[in-house]
Amino acid sequence: MNLSFYPLDLKLKHTFQIARESRDIQNNIIVLLRDTDGVVGFGEAAPTRFLGEDAKSVTRVLDQSVDLLQQADPFHLEDTTHLLKSRFPRDTAARAAIDIALYDMIGKKLKIPLYQLLGLKKPNANVTSFTIGIDTLEKMCKKVDEVKDFPILKIKAGFKEDIETLRELRKITRAVFRVDVNTGWTLHEAIKKLKLMENLGVELVEQPFPVGSIELLQKIRGAAKIPIFVDEDVKDTHDIPAFSNVVDGINIKLMKCGGIREAIRMIHTARAHNLKIMMGCNIESSVSITAASHVTPLVDHIDLDGHLLVTNDPYTGVMVDRGKLTLPVGDGLGVVARNEASLLSL
Ligand code: MG
Repeated sequence: MNLSFYPLDLKLKHTFQIARESRDIQNNIIVLLRDTDGVVGFGEAAPTRFLGEDAKSVTRVLDQSVDLLQQADPFHLEDTTHLLKSRFPRDTAARAAIDIALYDMIGKKLKIPLYQLLGLKKPNANVTSFTIGIDTLEKMCKKVDEVKDFPILKIKAGFKEDIETLRELRKITRAVFRVDVNTGWTLHEAIKKLKLMENLGVELVEQPFPVGSIELLQKIRGAAKIPIFVDEDVKDTHDIPAFSNVVDGINIKLMKCGGIREAIRMIHTARAHNLKIMMGCNIESSVSITAASHVTPLVDHIDLDGHLLVTNDPYTGVMVDRGKLTLPVGDGLGVVARNEASLLSL
C-alpha cells in the first residue's frame, strides 16, 4: 500500500474555547492509502497538544510509516495496528488516521459499509450533541440560539460563572445539557456546583477534575445525582479498570485511543466494568467524524459535531439534521471529497 498525506487546516466558525485553551484553526492531516488494485482508503488525524501531538509530530510518524505499510496486507489489521502501536505508542491521532484509512479500504474492497464490516446494523436516528464553547454570556446565548434545532447541547464549563451561565442558557432553550468541565473544577467547586445543577436539566457532567484525580471522583460519588463521565482521564483500554465504580461512564475518541480497532476494545472493556459510553471527537472533518459515526450503534451517548464547528470541511460524509445523524450511502466510510479534482492531483 502506498501512504500519502496532506495538511488540512480547518477554520473554526467561532473561536473554540474550553477550560484550558482556545483556538481558531485546527491543523489536521488527511491520509490516503492506495493499494495496488487502485482502491483508496481515507483517514484523518486531528492531533491535540494536550495529548502531546501536533501536525508536525503526525507528519513525522506518517513519514516513518510509509515503508512499514508498503508491503502490508490491508486485511491484516491486527498485525498492522499492533506494529504501529509498538513503534509510535504515544501518537494516537497519527495511528488513528492509518487505522481509519485501513477500515475504509477494506470496506471498499468488500463493497460494504463500515458498520456492516463491524457486524453492526445501520445506525438509525442516533442523535449527537452540539458543543457550545466558553465565551461571554451574550455570545454563548447567541450560539445556543443558532442551534436551537439541536435537542442536546454540550456546554463547556470550568470557569467562575459557569453555573450562572447555565441558568441563563436554560431560560432560552429546552435542550438537554451535557456539561464538560475539561478538568476545570476543584473538589469544593464540584460539590457546590453539582448540587446547583440538579434542576437545570443536566444529563451528565464530564471530566470535572484534573487527570488522575481518582480520590476526588470517589469523594463526589454518591453525593452527586448527576452522572459523571471521564474523558481526559481515559485514553485507551488500559485506563478503564481504574474507573470502575468510580464514575458512571467514559468518553471514547478515535484520536485519543488510536482508531476504530482500539475504540471497539474500549467499548467492550467499559461494558465489562458497567460503564456507560460516549463517543466523542476533536475538531475534525467529515472523514474521521463519519468513521466514528459507524461505531455509534455500540454507544449510549454521541458527541460527534467536530465537522459542524468548521467552515471549510472538504469532505461530505455523515449528515446531521437537528442533531440526527444520517450515514452516507457507500462502501467503507462512504466519505467523498467535495472537489474530486483536488484529490486526483495528489
Ligand atoms: Mg470532553
